[in-house]
Amino acid sequence: TGLTTTHLSIGEKEKWVQAPGNIETRLYINGEWFESPDQIHLVRPFDEQPLCSVHSATVGHIDAAVSAALLSFPAWRDLGPLGRKPFFRRLSALIREHVSEFAALNALNLGRSSEISKWELQHSADMYEYYAEAAIDIVGETRVGVDGRLDFELRQPYGVVGAIIPWNVPTLMFTMKTGAALAAGNTVVLKSSEKAPLTSLLMASLMHKAGFPAGVVNVLSGLGPVAGARLAEHPDVRKLSFTGSTATGRLLQKVSAETNLKKFQLELGGKSPCIVFADADLKKAAELLANSFTFLSGQACIASTRVLVEESVMEEFMGHFRTFVGAKEMNVLTDPTVDGADGLSPLVDEIQFKKVLAYIEEGKRTSTTPVIGGHRIGTKGYFVAPCIFENLPQSSRLIQEEIFGPVVCVNTFKTEQEALTLANDTQYGLYASAFSKDVGRLMRCAKGLDAGMLGLNITSPDLVPGFAFGGYKSSGSGRDGYKHGLLTMVEQKTVGLNYGSQAHSMA
Ligand code: NAD
Repeated sequence: TGLTTTHLSIGEKEKWVQAPGNIETRLYINGEWFESPDQIHLVRPFDEQPLCSVHSATVGHIDAAVSAALLSFPAWRDLGPLGRKPFFRRLSALIREHVSEFAALNALNLGRSSEISKWELQHSADMYEYYAEAAIDIVGETRVGVDGRLDFELRQPYGVVGAIIPWNVPTLMFTMKTGAALAAGNTVVLKSSEKAPLTSLLMASLMHKAGFPAGVVNVLSGLGPVAGARLAEHPDVRKLSFTGSTATGRLLQKVSAETNLKKFQLELGGKSPCIVFADADLKKAAELLANSFTFLSGQACIASTRVLVEESVMEEFMGHFRTFVGAKEMNVLTDPTVDGADGLSPLVDEIQFKKVLAYIEEGKRTSTTPVIGGHRIGTKGYFVAPCIFENLPQSSRLIQEEIFGPVVCVNTFKTEQEALTLANDTQYGLYASAFSKDVGRLMRCAKGLDAGMLGLNITSPDLVPGFAFGGYKSSGSGRDGYKHGLLTMVEQKTVGLNYGSQAHSMA
């Protein structure tokens, strides 16, 4: 690859401390660890103390990783699904053994509770186990024709898949991308988020231990406009699997259009609506919605951040909602490193913290009704009190744009049709939900809501194993998760075979 493998002790940097648990902080390329002249400095979001530095990939590192992935592709592809299976099995077992290490990294890097990390890692280990088996089921259609004619499909891996992931559930994102791509026989270059690179580095170490051949998976920390942009434009990357904001997704497609028109899997932003009808269990709906928009402090793509309440029950609903939301502010996760501690988490970094507070300030300037919460909690760490806006105009940026913080907008409606129109009136379509006791109405909502995923009398931030994950409209294209993710990782080739003596035409 032309790079050196000299080890760099991060602990020597003045105020930037040793990486927790002595995990690798360098770049994992072609089965080896490489240093970079560029560094990313991480800060603990719950107390703003320095955490550690990691090496940040340059364009040269991305190129080296793509070359390694390209070289290792034929052998990995030719192993076939059964040959690849043991690697995933070993990896799953290693993830289960290292759950507490992942949890410690998430606590320090993201301010996450150990419970949430355990939930994330459980899904991650289960998903690799699934992928160990599932690639066997990638088969195409066949048609046995008359007179020596056989038509069939081949489903073949792309080659080098580029993966770019966000920071909010970093290990799950890592798993969804690498699990599907590798199981289908592709090799991968993954760029983690500059905000949360540590668990991806731990995953790289475990994949190395699990024996994945050199070059099959390459894991690089790096900045979006440098390392991410190079991956997006690289001519040898045939498919890009991206999860992140809609703005970045648009940018990547533009770059691809001007280069090799690579195929895309896009999982983008959301602004999930929830319709609460007058006949719903209002207290239950209020409780679940309070949980939904404060889960990970609103840093979840499927958070229910727009609530539409039937006008006749607005007051009653808001009574319950304010109580549940107020309780969140009373339970803050000030020290996530304590095992078992739970509560409201901080925003990931100062940039996100300021962005969310700016939205709240804008909302407060325009709101004609009192606003609940929205202030900083304490003086250390990026904690924001969950915030409720009522009756902002539909055109407000707080209703139209994804904030990715603990902010919810509640509005009223009079008719079912009005509710559906308002619910669908943003560029997003990732998740939506509705609460009612009338099953017919719920089914009309299921059909009428523009969203890739739907909750009826639930608004769960959980994954449904086996089902597809993805969105309508500007929330993305393609689907991730289980067999759906797997099928996005193969090209489809139609083959016509004439093994008889007759000439065949397309007719
Ligand atoms: P982001 O778009 O800022 O960054 C995502 C990734 O893209 C990061 O790795 C970043 O470095 C990279 N990136 C940024 N600019 C780039 C560029 N010019 N070229 C190439 N790569 C670039 O998003 P984020 O703030 O990390 O994550 C939050 C977003 O992710 C939210 O919008 C959220 O809804 C979305 N998300 C979606 C899903 C889903 O499944 N739909 C899941 C989780 C998060």
